[in-house]
Amino acid sequence: MVGWAIAVHGGPGVDPNLPLERQEQAKLLLTRCLNVGISALRSSLPAIDVVELVVRELESDPLFNSGRGSALTEKGTVEMEASIMDGHGRRCGAVSGVTTVKSPVSLARLVMEKSPHSYLAFSGAEEFARRQGVEMVDNEYFITEENVGMLQLAKEANTILVRIPVISSSFMIIIKNLLQMNGLPISVYAPETVGCVVVDGEGRCAAATSTSGLMNKMSGRIGDSPLIGAGTYACEVCGVSCTGEGEAIIRGTLARDVAAVMEYKGLGLQEAVDYVVRERLDQGKAGLIAVSRNSEVAYGFNCIGMFRGCATQDGFMEVGIWE
Ligand code: ASP
Repeated sequence: MVGWAIAVHGGPGVDPNLPLERQEQAKLLLTRCLNVGISALRSSLPAIDVVELVVRELESDPLFNSGRGSALTEKGTVEMEASIMDGHGRRCGAVSGVTTVKSPVSLARLVMEKSPHSYLAFSGAEEFARRQGVEMVDNEYFITEENVGMLQLAKEANTILVRIPVISSSFMIIIKNLLQMNGLPISVYAPETVGCVVVDGEGRCAAATSTSGLMNKMSGRIGDSPLIGAGTYACEVCGVSCTGEGEAIIRGTLARDVAAVMEYKGLGLQEAVDYVVRERLDQGKAGLIAVSRNSEVAYGFNCIGMFRGCATQDGFMEVGIWE
């Protein structure tokens, strides 16, 4: 019997000018979701159920970029993707390009459990969802006024808006000028991906990630979040969920590499996370959360902040945004 541990994230690369009120809202949401996970763990639910439950909760809140509140494609539509992995038995499921499925993470779980495959996308995923009888909604359900404004901003700036990645002060000046040029407030919040990792009381690890990717992305673009080994991974040793610029995370196979350096180099969880963030990730690009079968929990990011929180069975709990 080991102690359980849980971590959640709501994306990296936070704008330092993000209004305090918005920061507090994000922290409250992370706390609420952690509490959902904690009570499930106290009721002895397995890790795979807990990650699904927590990510579903995040998907139903418009604050972060998953489910309701999703980032928009260049066409102004929402194309969501999610994945889930049970380290116990290494089972996984993933979906991409879903447009009317209320909870993409639960559809990913169904792919894992009720299909012969690991990954379904676009019309095939939607068809599977209908056959499974999951809750479907109009695409408009996912679209918020704030994100429509953000898409417009991204289009005017001719950029794909990941976040406001303040990696140098000169870059910040450019961003500020762009925003002022558009007559919009400087403090902009670009919505971000959500994820959860859990090790339960039996030492089973699981991970889940859900997103609609990047604001103003091309229709059809697939990021790291649904890709097992890139954005999400779980095995007997650990569970990992990543967030940030998907293209960089895919190049670094971040989630699997954390497990690999633990397995092959014998590193501890935090050491493995630090190693992968340092050696496999371009500067300023991303972050990740991880748990190990030994009840450890770890974060790593190389950008200005990451919405995240964690809790362990011994009563420790924290939520944070900055370093
Ligand atoms: N990793 C996601 C993607 O590139 C975005 C994010 O984490 O916010 O699709």
